Amino acid sequence: MIDTALTSGLGALGYDPAPESAALARLRPRYGLFLNGEFTDPARHEQFASLNPATEETLATVARASAADVDAAVAAARHAYDTVWSTMPGAERAKYLFRIARLIQERARELAVVETLDNGKPIRESRDIDVPLAAAHFFYYAGWADKLDYAGFGVRPRPLGVAGQIIPWNFPLLMAAWKLAPALAAGNTCVLKPAETTPLSALVLGEILQQAGLPEGVVNIVTGDASTGAALVEHPGVDKIAFTGSTEVGRLIQERVAATSKKLTLELGGKGANIVFEDAPIDEVIEGIIDGIFFNQGHVCCAGSRLLVQESVADEVVRRLLRRVDQLRVGDPLDKNTDVGAINSAGQLARVREMSRWGEDEGATRYTSACELPTTGYWFAPTVFTNVAQSHRIAREEIFGPVLSVLTFRTPDEAVAKANNSKYGLACGVWSEKGSRTLWVAQRLRAGVVWANTYNKFDPTSPFGGVRESGFGREGGRQGLEAYLDV
Ligand code: NAD
Repeated sequence: MIDTALTSGLGALGYDPAPESAALARLRPRYGLFLNGEFTDPARHEQFASLNPATEETLATVARASAADVDAAVAAARHAYDTVWSTMPGAERAKYLFRIARLIQERARELAVVETLDNGKPIRESRDIDVPLAAAHFFYYAGWADKLDYAGFGVRPRPLGVAGQIIPWNFPLLMAAWKLAPALAAGNTCVLKPAETTPLSALVLGEILQQAGLPEGVVNIVTGDASTGAALVEHPGVDKIAFTGSTEVGRLIQERVAATSKKLTLELGGKGANIVFEDAPIDEVIEGIIDGIFFNQGHVCCAGSRLLVQESVADEVVRRLLRRVDQLRVGDPLDKNTDVGAINSAGQLARVREMSRWGEDEGATRYTSACELPTTGYWFAPTVFTNVAQSHRIAREEIFGPVLSVLTFRTPDEAVAKANNSKYGLACGVWSEKGSRTLWVAQRLRAGVVWANTYNKFDPTSPFGGVRESGFGREGGRQGLEAYLDV
C-alpha cells in the first residue's frame, strides 16, 4: 500500500515521533554553587527556577549568587591560581583538560538532553553540534597547554590570573567550553557565570570537573542574573573579564572595566549577511540559507539574518526558500526529527514578536510558515521578510530569532556595500562557483568571519570573533590563547 502522506508532497511527509528520553538528564531538584571544588548547600542561597521553554515546567531551581558568593568564588580561584594551577607544568594541566574532554564525551547523551531541556534547541543540534564541539575545544586546548612557548607569544608567556567569564543562553555548554578551555590551558583559574535561563549544563559540567579531579578552586561556577554578572565585573580580584552576550551589556561592561587594569574581550551581537551570487548552486544555497537563519531558532550571534541575493536569481531563490521553510518541522525539541525548537524564554519570544511587527509596519512583505505550533511553551514559526529596504529596522537590528530579511543586489560592489552597511561585523557568507569572486568579496567584507559556500561552520582550530559593535578579541585557535596570556 502507498503511504498517502508520501504521495501528497514533501511538505506533508509524516514522521513518527522519535523522542529522546528526558529521564537521561538526571537533574537534581535544587542546585547550590560550584565553589572550591564542591557544590554548596542549596539551602544557603536564594533559589530561582530554570524552566523548560518547550513546556514552561520547572526543571530545577538554582542558586542566585550574591556579591559575597562571588567574592568567595574569586578568593577560591585566586588561591588555586597561586598555589596550584599557575605553577603546574603545562603537560600536567593538559592531562586534566584531556580528562574533561573525555568525560564530556562519556556523558554526551546526558549533556545533550540537559541542554535541549534547558535551552529549547533540537536534540539533533545539541547531540551533533553543541556537545561534540564542547569536547573538541577541551581536546584542542589540552594540546596547547605544554606548547605555549611555541604559540608565537614569546618565550614562557604568563597567564593573567583569575578570569571572570560571563556567557549567554544560546549555546550554554559550548560557550562555557569556549571560555574555560583556553583559559585553563594558559594557566588561569576561572569564575564562570552562566546565563540565568540556561544554568543547568554548566552545573553538570561542574560534576564533570569533580570527576576529572580538577584541583579545587581552579574553576568556580556562580549561577545568577545580571547582578551576579555585575558583581564579577566589579570585583577587584579579577584580572580578566571575558564576556559573550548582547552589545548593550558589553558596552556597559567596557565602561565598568575602563578605569581598571582588567583585560577585556567582548563577543557581542551580529547581523550577518549571507550573499548569494547568480552562479551559486541553488540547492546548496537553499540549505545554506536555512541553516544560516533557522539553526538554533536563529539564536545565533553570527546568524545569516540578512540574505543578500543577486537580482537575476532572486525570484527563484525566494520561491524555493519559502517552499523549504514550509517543510521545517517545528516542535518538541527532544524529538530527533525536529528542525526548529522552542524560543528560549518568554522575554525573548516577546522581543522576536515585537521586532517582526516592525517589519510589517515598515512595509516589508511577511511570510510565516503555516506549521502548527504547540499550545504551551514559547514558540515562533519560521518567518521570512521580502521587499526589505536597508533602512528597515529588521535589516539593521539583531532579532536573535527565526526571522530572515531578504534584500537584493545587482553587482559585487553593491553586495559588499550592502553587507558592510551594518553597525555589526561578526560573520558573513558568500555563495558563488567562482573562487576569485568569493575571495574578492571576502577581502572587502568588514566581518570577523567569512564563510565560503557554507554557513555556521565552527571548529576549535579556527578563531572566531567580531569587529565594530560585534566586539573584540578572538576565541578558538591559537589566537584564542592570546586573550588569556599577558602578551
Ligand atoms: P545578555 O547580554 O543579556 O546576557 C549575557 C550574560 O550577561 C548573561 O549571563 C547575563 O546574566 C549577563 N549580564 C546581564 N547584564 C549584566 C551586567 N550588567 N553585568 C554583567 N553581566 C551581565 O545577552 P543574552 O540575551 O543572554 O544573549 C544574547 C546576545 O548574546 C545576543 O546579542 C547575541 O548576539 C550575543 N552572543 C554573541 C556571541 C558571540 O560570540 N559574539 C555568541 C553568543 C551570543
